[in-house]
Amino acid sequence: AYDVLVVGGGPAGAAAAIYSARKGIRTGVVAERFGGQVADTMAIENFISVKATDGPKLVAGLEQHVLDYDVDLMKTQKAVRLEKKDLVEVELENGAVLKSKSVILATGARWREMNVPGEQEYRGKGVAYCPHCDGPLFKGKKTAVIGGGNSGIEAAIDLAGIVEHVTVLEFGDTLRADDVLVKKAESLANVTIIKNAMTTEVLGDGERVIGLKYTDRKTDESHLVDVAGIFVQIGLVPNSEFLKDTLELTNRGEIVVNGHGETSMPGVFAAGDVTTAPYKQIIISMGSGATAALGAFDYLIRH
Ligand code: FAD
Repeated sequence: AYDVLVVGGGPAGAAAAIYSARKGIRTGVVAERFGGQVADTMAIENFISVKATDGPKLVAGLEQHVLDYDVDLMKTQKAVRLEKKDLVEVELENGAVLKSKSVILATGARWREMNVPGEQEYRGKGVAYCPHCDGPLFKGKKTAVIGGGNSGIEAAIDLAGIVEHVTVLEFGDTLRADDVLVKKAESLANVTIIKNAMTTEVLGDGERVIGLKYTDRKTDESHLVDVAGIFVQIGLVPNSEFLKDTLELTNRGEIVVNGHGETSMPGVFAAGDVTTAPYKQIIISMGSGATAALGAFDYLIRH
């Protein structure tokens, strides 16, 4: 059995594995796709002390650093069940059951997509999901934000300070964001909010995004908006489906953790985007992975 079994191989899982292995305890990592969301990222300019890097480079660095230690790295393996018996058991899709004294869940999250033509083709070429990450790439350009909930309106306010103009497209007839955010966005001269707007297509020139198409749901008319960037803000979905009946999750599916990374199940810790951590970033996930590993070590020396 392992002392610590990490589920997930993104920045949170990698940090948890390194911190655990450095304690000299038996550490395993199970990852469906090592690198996680970072593998899908182009420019990374906010990984502090590294002025600029990209996803594949950072993933290679994470893997090298993990493998520098005595860690059992099980790639392309998916966890499908977690159960606490004497030890904590993690069942994989292939039927194998791994046992560990403690488990760190770091399965991350995925952005909800619009599922319209052009979205996949222009992902990373104008279609973006993270304003903190990619906002500055659109300095002085026109952008759109899809979604008028809190994250969409926050993104619009954030982008308004960087880009030339922001058009917010909300599907419903009202914005779902908090009132103070809506008032703030409405007060900004370079923000336009369009309601009842169903985005139907991302338009590009073969290289980059040049605009989008939406249908006015009231009049059924189709409109074009010319933009260089489209920030999709219609939800971040935690990869926690397999934990539904075992751990305390929020109604959005985030694993509830405390300041030590502890979940509602003794011996089970969690870190990164899959948790209630309010901000989802690489550097924050790494910090919480380290926290969960130290939390797990504290647990192990007491049990
Ligand atoms: P993830 O990176 O999501 O990793 C989750 C891991 O768990 C993966 O290995 C996955 O395969 C695995 N997994 C999931 N389910 C299972 C399962 N059931 N069994 C086994 N393994 C499983 N942040 C920044 O700070 N700067 C940026 O510039 C930046 N740009 C971004 C650009 C894009 C396009 C995206 C999508 C995100 C970006 N982010 C950026 C956000 C950042 O990537 C995330 O906050 C960070 O990767 C979260 O780390 P994590 O380890 O919690 O989860």
